[in-house]
Parts: sequence; C-alpha cells; structure tokens
Amino acid sequence: MGRGKPRHDGSDKRRESRVPADTSQQAPNNSYSPLTQYEDTPFTCADCGKEEIWTAAQQKWWYEVAKGTIYSRAIRCRSCRQALRKGGV
Ligand SMILES: [Zn+2]
Repeated sequence: MGRGKPRHDGSDKRRESRVPADTSQQAPNNSYSPLTQYEDTPFTCADCGKEEIWTAAQQKWWYEVAKGTIYSRAIRCRSCRQALRKGGV
C-alpha cells in the first residue's frame, strides 16, 4: 500500500457528458439565460432517494423533443418513473 497513484489523466472520453443545445427547439420561455448546452447532472430521486445521473442526452430529449420547460428537471430515477407509468397515472 502507499504506492498507488490514481490513474486519472483527464483524457477519459468514454462518452459525452456535454451536448450542445439547439435553443430553437426548446419550448418557448422568458428566460434571459436559455440553456445553451446540456451537462450530466446528478440528482436524488424524490421517491426512493437513489442517486442518479440525468444525462446530457436525456436532457436534450426532454427539452427539445418532449418540449419540457427549461424550469423543469428530473426528480425521479428511471425505475420510479417506470413504476409510475405502470401504475397508470
Ligand atoms: Zn427512485
């Protein structure tokens, strides 16, 4: 023990954690600071307390395809969202 150096050199690019935003596809909003890029965002599930990452790609889908407002964000983890859907809201 004592010799191990962390092997982090900052060149790890397994996947993109940032995605440029297409603001023209976002739902209309009055914000002075529209989202110009999406970035992986950790959050804690409101239902079960599990920590999950809301990925940049998921945000792009939510804001530009589903037209979610830029004021909304993920509050539930994937399994809780699926459970909700199955429950037939
Ligand atoms: Zn959950």
